[in-house]
Amino acid sequence: MPRAGPELFPGMTDSVISVTNTTIMASIFTKIINGEIPCYKIAENDRFFSFLDINPVSRGHTLVIPKKETDYLFDLEDRELADLMVFAKSVARAIDSALSPMRTGVIVDGREVPHAHVHLIPIFKDEQKTALGHKVDVSGEEMERIAAQIAKAWEPSP
Ligand code: AMP
Repeated sequence: MPRAGPELFPGMTDSVISVTNTTIMASIFTKIINGEIPCYKIAENDRFFSFLDINPVSRGHTLVIPKKETDYLFDLEDRELADLMVFAKSVARAIDSALSPMRTGVIVDGREVPHAHVHLIPIFKDEQKTALGHKVDVSGEEMERIAAQIAKAWEPSP
């Protein structure tokens, strides 16, 4: 999809171009939901989707996203935000059950991908670094195995 610009829409102002591009360009996460980009999938229902973060801060670092594309988490409708967190809870429970961390932490940042998402980060020991950007080495094979373990433990919220 070409980026909207003056050559495509002569006379368009910069701010309109920016809004238009946000609207017409599918985020990388939407492409993952649509199966256009592969992922280590964990769970999905009709409104939410979950998969392993490709740059894990810890083994089992998982992202939870709404299928409807919205950039800023706190622009979600109240009900959508609440339901996203309930879905995230079901995934966190699956992580807890599959990987037995001390607990699963939650981070929201959103500066890299403009599609609202919640990071779920299993914490295995007190001294573990949990800041985004601290990457641990996990092979593709192990990512497959971890995703399958969490997926197997996942139960949809009642
Ligand atoms: P942020 O927007 O700062 O909350 O970070 C976005 C997160 O998405 C980062 O932790 C990336 O590693 C992760 N990410 C980006 N592209 C992919 C992808 N194709 N599959 C899985 N995770 C991704």
